[in-house]
Amino acid sequence: MLILLLKEWVKQKKMRINNKKLSKSEAKEKIKEFFKKENLKKASPREVKKIKRLAAHKKMPLKEKRKLFCKKCLMPFENKEPKKVRIKNNKKIIECSHCGHLNKWKLKEGN
Ligand SMILES: [Zn+2]
Repeated sequence: MLILLLKEWVKQKKMRINNKKLSKSEAKEKIKEFFKKENLKKASPREVKKIKRLAAHKKMPLKEKRKLFCKKCLMPFENKEPKKVRIKNNKKIIECSHCGHLNKWKLKEGN
């Protein structure tokens, strides 16, 4: 009897998880929506973390979108303007005004 109840509970739990899961296209849409300028302006580092986790779960690389927030504290640059932006030796250096971290990205040729 107990085992039966347990099985039922596991089944219900699994169903609940499945209902919560986003399909890949839904997740993609959510990520796309999140990185829109007007949404990024209001986004907090916590929300960036959530989106990052979602993308990782769905194995979707953020690629260029990773450059839209600080690597260390995840503060979107749209939300909090970076302190300094420099280009040196074909590298773009953005100093985060939130935590002071220097984010460096290689510039692609022709960029
Ligand atoms: Zn930062």
